[in-house]
Amino acid sequence: MAEMDIVMDRLMNNNKHNDELLEILCYNKGFDNPERWLNYARLHSFKKREAVYCPLCPDCKGEEGKVIGQYIHFNQLVRLRKCRLCGLAYSDVLLDENFWAEYFEDVYKNETYFVEQRNLIYKGIISIISKLVNRSRSFTAIDIGGAKGHLSHLISSYFPKSDTTLTDISEEACRYAKEYFSLRVICCDIDGLKKLNKKYTLVLLIDSLYYSPAINDAWKTISQMVDDDGSLILRLPNKLWGVICCQKMLRLISSKARKGMQDKIIGINPEHIRFFSVRYLRDRISNLGFHSFTVYPSPPLLPLHPLKRVLARLFWILAISLYELSFGKVLITPSIIVTAKKRV
Ligand SMILES: [Zn+2]
Repeated sequence: MAEMDIVMDRLMNNNKHNDELLEILCYNKGFDNPERWLNYARLHSFKKREAVYCPLCPDCKGEEGKVIGQYIHFNQLVRLRKCRLCGLAYSDVLLDENFWAEYFEDVYKNETYFVEQRNLIYKGIISIISKLVNRSRSFTAIDIGGAKGHLSHLISSYFPKSDTTLTDISEEACRYAKEYFSLRVICCDIDGLKKLNKKYTLVLLIDSLYYSPAINDAWKTISQMVDDDGSLILRLPNKLWGVICCQKMLRLISSKARKGMQDKIIGINPEHIRFFSVRYLRDRISNLGFHSFTVYPSPPLLPLHPLKRVLARLFWILAISLYELSFGKVLITPSIIVTAKKRV
């Protein structure tokens, strides 16, 4: 009898646990068939998380984008969609502000990342800036989402007549940039910059545009911030075409059940919420009144492991050679740098 009680207790607890997990899966976003995800949720200790389901294109506000694939992020089932009208790819679940506040305070702590690993990237950007402005003349620049200020500091040092401002959402990063590099800082997101109503010769968004939930408003603000003779510089991943090809192949060979349980997409960073193709960028930036749209391969983020570091440098030499030999048509680097000039 006692054994029977224990079995009954276990069953009750198990059922209760299932009920709790079902409640979590129904509360979190994207789980249209929550029963299928019970074991997964149990294994990964799912908790209730605040998020919003946004299936419509955040740029052109058109119809629901075509699903490329799905992944789990922060206990949500997120679908990567691509708009059939404007071509923007986007995640259809947006996490709440608390997640992002914690994320940005945490992500900037690694000094090696900024000083060593991103060194080649910053040098590449300085080289591109040299093509857009005259070093002997004064100009203004704003580095939006500039983290702790390593790039802004480099711009100020290499272009002594420049007047550079840094903005970031992280208070700790802004404090560091102000105290350590003596930079002028504005602690806010892109929406906050709209209210400043200021124009700059150079507007830089280096690995930051993909965090913009209201991408349509972000484009408007960015465009308004570039001076009449100014330029825009973006650094973004160059992986969307590869991700889409990979997903198409996987969907061809996977069973329906397996596709339904997909929990990651190879090649994407789940923290990014917007994903850009070169074609989308060209059309979008041109529609904002820019010309001379140019795409450069970006120098790599250098790995910490010495051998991987050598391989990354060799790959970079190969990538830049292919880019030069193809007259700018072949871009094989995982990230690109895009520039455009304001149409006067
Ligand atoms: Zn769209």
